Amino acid sequence: TNDQLSKWDQDHFFHPSTALGAHSRGEAQGMIIKTAEGCHITDRDGNRMLDAFAGLYCVNIGYGRQEVAEAIAEQARELAYYHSYVGNGTEASITLAKMVAERAPEGLNRVFFGQGGSDANETNIKLVWYYNNILGRPQKKKIISRWRGYHGSGLMSGSLTGLSLFHKKFDLPLDTVRHTTAPYYYQREDASQSEAEFSAQCAADLEALIEKEGADTIAAFIAEPVIGTGGIVPPPEGYWEAIQKVLKKHDILLIADEVITGFGRLGTMFGSPKYDMDPDIITIAKGLTSAYAPLSGSIVHDRVFEVLARGTDENGPLGHGWTYSAHPIGAAAGVANLKLLDSLGLVQNAGEVGPYLTEQMRKAFEGHDHVGDIRGVGMMTALELVSDRDTRAGFDPEKKLVPQIAAAMAKRGVIARAMPQADIVGYSPPLCLTREEADTIVGVSVEAVAEVLG
Ligand code: PLP
Repeated sequence: TNDQLSKWDQDHFFHPSTALGAHSRGEAQGMIIKTAEGCHITDRDGNRMLDAFAGLYCVNIGYGRQEVAEAIAEQARELAYYHSYVGNGTEASITLAKMVAERAPEGLNRVFFGQGGSDANETNIKLVWYYNNILGRPQKKKIISRWRGYHGSGLMSGSLTGLSLFHKKFDLPLDTVRHTTAPYYYQREDASQSEAEFSAQCAADLEALIEKEGADTIAAFIAEPVIGTGGIVPPPEGYWEAIQKVLKKHDILLIADEVITGFGRLGTMFGSPKYDMDPDIITIAKGLTSAYAPLSGSIVHDRVFEVLARGTDENGPLGHGWTYSAHPIGAAAGVANLKLLDSLGLVQNAGEVGPYLTEQMRKAFEGHDHVGDIRGVGMMTALELVSDRDTRAGFDPEKKLVPQIAAAMAKRGVIARAMPQADIVGYSPPLCLTREEADTIVGVSVEAVAEVLG
């Protein structure tokens, strides 16, 4: 029964990103989801909800795709597991590596598979350190990320994450990590700045940090093409051009964390080409399998791989890997998922219905006293609320207004996400969203904001 499950849950299930005390006292019970199809999830009581967040920005192809379920079942029957150490592989893992390389930007041809986005970023930093050691510059170690960036919650990946919640009481960030200005144009300090001026300032801030630390101590810059968890923040005009100029000048590698933006979310297969980014490594996860099974990857550029390969010629095999690297079931899910992404035209749909959602949201909230900004790119939209539109000031965090709005939406059958450390409602639906479903999301958002803010 639900009561039984709730009790077991409260007594035994240690949840991620959860108020543990409240949960174990039964004050923060989440949903118990039973089935899902398309853009909808259904709980044990039969409540069907439109999931406007695709789980955690990950179910790109939508729920319930039998082709992927079959591929997983077949793989489990034929070969549930074999490892990928010392050059071993499976049909699924080898095929998926090729499919990823074919879809990745030019020059990014080698895929190291992991389990989730956090461990992929741990891998990336180890690869960058190894690379610099092979090049004979061991002092080039520090990694720069951005405030409001999200890169996971491991020791290194959590350090790279630029949200204080992920550092507080964990003794993070590690001492090799530095953070720089977020490209958060809406909340810029100087309201008179144009987007291009603000981008130039972000690049100048980055360069000042590099010069302060010493360029010969900085190994890499890691960033999402479009910030996700930190508030769904597309880069302002000219941002990536200005940033990459600084990185090239100081011989600093670029890691594009495309855990959210990879595999269609921005209406393009990857986010990097959309912004003319030329990354040395791309992090992938989520949309790689649409979360039908856990799998992540680090796609490494030929120019980096060449140095790593030279390193192993000189030093023996790379001392890095996971038992579940390239897990056959994840790989089989990935192959079936990428085929569906193509055959259903979902990348194109994301590029059409996503902007429609953002546009309809803008129309619906036009002139609203407490809606400061509505922004989006592809199938990602943010609704930023402010107490005062002139000052762009937020609300008292104690009031927990955005969680209240998300709850008011859930009551009406739509799941959106209260973004951490901000007054932002985030939307990142499956890429198969229809215009009618987008209209439902907008209508429910309007009703929920009216209920909470009047
Ligand atoms: N990088 C980005 C951009 C993410 O959005 C996330 C998760 O949301 C991660 C890394 C971490 O991935 P995971 O939660 O699979 O470890």
